[in-house]
Amino acid sequence: MAEKIMAYRFNRLDQTLSQLNQEDCTIMAGGTDVMVLHKNRRGVPPKISKPIMFIDHLSELKQVYQIQNDLHIGACCTYSELLENPLIPLPLKNAIQTIAAPAIRNRGTLGGNICNASPAGDTLPLLYVYNAKLLLRSVNGDRVVAISDFIQGPRRVERNQNEILAEIILPSIFEEDAHVVFEKVGNRNADAIAKVSFAGYIRIKDTQIDDVRFAFGAVGPTMVRSVDIEKKLLGKIIPLAKADIAQVVTAFDQIIHPIDDQRSTATYRKTVALNLLRYFLSKNQYQSN
Ligand SMILES: Cc1cc2nc3c(=O)[nH]c(=O)nc-3n(C[C@H](O)[C@H](O)[C@H](O)COP(=O)(O)OP(=O)(O)OC[C@H]3O[C@@H](n4cnc5c(N)ncnc54)[C@H](O)[C@@H]3O)c2cc1C
Repeated sequence: MAEKIMAYRFNRLDQTLSQLNQEDCTIMAGGTDVMVLHKNRRGVPPKISKPIMFIDHLSELKQVYQIQNDLHIGACCTYSELLENPLIPLPLKNAIQTIAAPAIRNRGTLGGNICNASPAGDTLPLLYVYNAKLLLRSVNGDRVVAISDFIQGPRRVERNQNEILAEIILPSIFEEDAHVVFEKVGNRNADAIAKVSFAGYIRIKDTQIDDVRFAFGAVGPTMVRSVDIEKKLLGKIIPLAKADIAQVVTAFDQIIHPIDDQRSTATYRKTVALNLLRYFLSKNQYQSN
């Protein structure tokens, strides 16, 4: 006989948080990572040792709204819901389109992608270049952390047992006139896990670079971003001189250390990552999107 699993599905977020404060649970949003992580032999139900806390239905975690120039995205919005929402920026929609197939996009959530903290999580490079902040909620109140502080390594996040990721905040997104891109290299255009991914963000003022940010996915334990390297480009005139591009590419060459695995080789990953960066930096002009 199959083992029984304890599961909670409260109607409200406050009830959910109260239970999480008393008991360590496996939080389940869309379950598309949780079920794979705990999968068992064929025909045998998944083995989940802790009680399950379902959160995917909680309306408090599914709002998308604007406060001044910041965009707030509920952690339990599914990818399909975000694709339908006019407030979601186009580059993020482009990234979502590359994730899995519609069935998974109907279940998988943005919050789940972040908390799963896979080096190949497709929304992560963009969230890093948007300087995303995460609102974590518990019975003790709210705290806000930068995504780069929250994600510590593969499947390692800085979340307390009694906390839920409630919202993803993209600060100042409605005032920034930036050109933002997401590129994913996989075996095919969608329904493939990334071998390498790249997000680039650039803001130009009077032909000079006013702000620039890069993040690489699937080439290290977490997203690779370097504010020190980005700073080298501030104030430079567009189109960039070849020497400036070379300096930045060389700097990233020194800090990107991919691995060989079943999806790709370290050499391929590094070559493609640097090519994507070089291509992004070589444009003659950047239109905001
Ligand atoms: C066939 C298939 C294809 C896939 N393809 C892709 C792909 O192309 N690109 C990609 O990036 N991913 C892909 N994934 C992975 C997965 O779909 C995504 O990571 C998805 O965003 C996970 O969301 P979820 O709601 O299903 O998370 P869940 O599985 O419910 O949770 C994932 C983790 O986050 C925790 N968690 C979830 N929500 C919260 C919250 N609000 N607060 C605190 N903790 C939370 C859970 O406890 C768990 O540890 C694929 C998965 C499958 C099965």
